[in-house]
Amino acid sequence: MERTKVGLSNEEVMHYKQKYGLNELFKKEDTGILKKFIDVLKEPMLLLLLCTTIIYFMLGEFQEGIVMLIFVLFVCSITFFQQWKTDRTMNALKNLVSPEIQVLRDAKKIIIKSSELVPNDIIYISQGERIPADCEVVEVSNLYVDEAILTGESEPAYKQCKKQCNGIDDYWKEYMLYAGTLVVSGTCVAIVRKIGTSTEYGKIGKSIYEAKEEDTPLQKKVGNLVKILAVIGAVLCIAVISLSYINTQNLIKSILSGITLAMAIIPEEFPVVLAVFLSMGAFRLAKKNVIMRKISAVETLGSTTVLCVDKTGTITENKMKVSKVFYNKKLFDDVNYLSKELSMVSILACQRDSTDPLEKAIIEVAKKNIAVYELENLEICKKFDFNSNTKRMANVYIMDDNYYISAKGSPEAIIRLCKFNKEELGEIKREVDFFASKGLRVIALADGTSEKLFEELEDYTLSFKGIYGLQDAPREGVLEAIKSCNTAGIRVVMITGDYYKTAVAIGEEIGLKFSNSSITGEEIDHMTDVELMNAVKECDIFSRVIPEHKMRIIKALRDNGEIVAMTGDGVNDAPALKKADIGIAMGGRGTEVAKEAADMILLDDNFTTIVDSVRDGRRIFDNIRKAMIYIFIIHIPIITLALFSPVFALPQILLPMHIMLLELIIDPTCSIIFEIEPEEPYIMNQPPRSPKEPLLTQGMVKKVLMQGTTLFLAAFLPFHYLVDSGVTVEYARSFSLTTLIVGNIILVLVNSSNTKPITEVLLDNRNKSRILINIISVVVLICIIYMPMLQSLFKTSSLALKTFTEALVLGGISTGWWEIVKLFHRIRKL
Ligand code: ADP
Ligand code: MG
Repeated sequence: MERTKVGLSNEEVMHYKQKYGLNELFKKEDTGILKKFIDVLKEPMLLLLLCTTIIYFMLGEFQEGIVMLIFVLFVCSITFFQQWKTDRTMNALKNLVSPEIQVLRDAKKIIIKSSELVPNDIIYISQGERIPADCEVVEVSNLYVDEAILTGESEPAYKQCKKQCNGIDDYWKEYMLYAGTLVVSGTCVAIVRKIGTSTEYGKIGKSIYEAKEEDTPLQKKVGNLVKILAVIGAVLCIAVISLSYINTQNLIKSILSGITLAMAIIPEEFPVVLAVFLSMGAFRLAKKNVIMRKISAVETLGSTTVLCVDKTGTITENKMKVSKVFYNKKLFDDVNYLSKELSMVSILACQRDSTDPLEKAIIEVAKKNIAVYELENLEICKKFDFNSNTKRMANVYIMDDNYYISAKGSPEAIIRLCKFNKEELGEIKREVDFFASKGLRVIALADGTSEKLFEELEDYTLSFKGIYGLQDAPREGVLEAIKSCNTAGIRVVMITGDYYKTAVAIGEEIGLKFSNSSITGEEIDHMTDVELMNAVKECDIFSRVIPEHKMRIIKALRDNGEIVAMTGDGVNDAPALKKADIGIAMGGRGTEVAKEAADMILLDDNFTTIVDSVRDGRRIFDNIRKAMIYIFIIHIPIITLALFSPVFALPQILLPMHIMLLELIIDPTCSIIFEIEPEEPYIMNQPPRSPKEPLLTQGMVKKVLMQGTTLFLAAFLPFHYLVDSGVTVEYARSFSLTTLIVGNIILVLVNSSNTKPITEVLLDNRNKSRILINIISVVVLICIIYMPMLQSLFKTSSLALKTFTEALVLGGISTGWWEIVKLFHRIRKL
């Protein structure tokens, strides 16, 4: 049988794959292990650790030196692990969005990853797709391809089969499709000729699919903060070294206390927390059918103020059902019995083997009244494809030596093609309005004959046949999702190509705020930018719009200062998706181009999933804040302790060992525990966060200072007191370490939730890692205070049980007192 009818067989595919490899247009950059290792070693924390190790060895304190080396290895492996995990998560996400293509193999049409294509594969390409390999056109209908990416030519190139080409031998062939170029309109069947780096595009060797990953605004803010802290740290360090040298005259010891301070100050947790929270957030969203193409979108999501969504398929199910028909001046509520004539026109006005839900619904009804097989053999000699600008389509057939045209589309579009008297027109318009006021999608039908084949649909004279009213119910949960948007201060704007009455009826059903009016595409055309800016303030429904209008709507909303998320699926939606703060492409019906332009892909095309992801975005941001606040608080005592000892000429409370130990507790605490914290009840009850809002608000800064200071006092004052009263430094230090570590555990519990009391947090055992890390820190604390071997290393000594209990209580109170503030807030809210 002919190759184009069966495609390649399994064996052939295997054979070609072995011979030519994968269809990858560019070589992925592979960062070697060595480079990653050097990157990790460049971390300032590790450099400091290495310095300390060297100093200990110079001082002849080998035991300490070796422990420090172990710490170095530990920190290295943690960093490695974290990076590996983030990389893996990101790669998994990228794989989920890798482009796919329909191929013919073993006589079956299947969908495979474009990278699996081999030469001689037969592929099906349609509007909105990127060509996956260099191919030759076999069958073609109206195919225009944007080849600017290769040729620089901005006009789309028209494609035809080889035998129709006029033999001009250009470098860029009319019968060839080139990898990386974009199908603007039409469909075709093609045979793959060259794949991977042998394609014209592959020779250039750049990636088109990859969205360039820039730092998110938050990452930039935090980056700056880290720089500022580093400078402060360096200045303080030098000050401490000089001070201590004046006090002790011992240079190496002074350097050591300087390094201790530096280790305490380096805010290495901040970037880690951001990278981990954002990538894990994206990963969790992927499990809920939302794929983040840009990590920064995770962050922006939470501050979205307006959601602009398509109606059909996003708010509604996109499962159409014919519910009313108007034909021959009569209204039919029972659509099972329609005339043969209308049924025939309906079927002929649809695509063959249609997958469009609207056409499937119409055909289903028509089939009940007419034998379809008679119509299936008719030859289509011209197609006018549907697009959202013209809102109509038609097929031209050869019938009885004449041409027969069957058309359908929006009533306005079809009426324009027909001739009426005033009375007829009035009646039709009344019916259309009646259908639409019931929330039905309205389609008009017309047909006609012609002796000539015209290029434009307008040149045919058609006669009006009838109208269909199709029901497309809102998806389950949309009403609730919109309510939750309202309490969260997010406006939902519905954008649709449908008739305004249909849109308004649906808008009312789902509870849009301004659901009694709609602005139509035509009205937008007559508005200036400023008028539109005012209009969008009080309108939630835009009807009969074409993709170009979306662009203006977004611009107007953004000029009003809104943060806009917008959905889209078609080729023409790409500019609007790019312009929106968050472009959301549909995973199901979206074109490749829309997906490339989007920040986020919605796999299930469902509106409620968007609202869920906004909630997740807010939760992620809230947790990032919690983690940041925690990091700030816990560093206050550590830094001040490292700073005060030399300043007040006290013996050093915290040695590099202790700081390392604390960091090993702090690190997983902030990057794991807070990441999985469940959402707070207020998350969707407050207005969106302004992107201009600082990382920490004034209230948060106060909280940081208060909690940090009390924890510091609880560790510092007893130490001061104990040393003055004559006990050994080791004993006093054990006391301080106990208050610090216990204070830290309580701090995590207190700050895990801003609303729930600590008792509820303790009983909620969903966050397993919190329980684990807290238990480990208690065990570690007991070990370093009571195990002789560790005592000599950590310069501690056994505390009497009474003293130990005192330290426990003091530590608990030092951070636990914040519960009173929380209680006060709760009472005030009642
Ligand atoms: P949306 O998807 O936003 O509802 P569309 O651009 O898909 O908007 O559709 C706009 C209008 O075009 C519909 O109200 C309907 O009248 C008409 N229409 C939609 N699909 C078809 C089709 N397959 N054939 C003919 N007309 C259609
Ligand atoms: Mg549509």
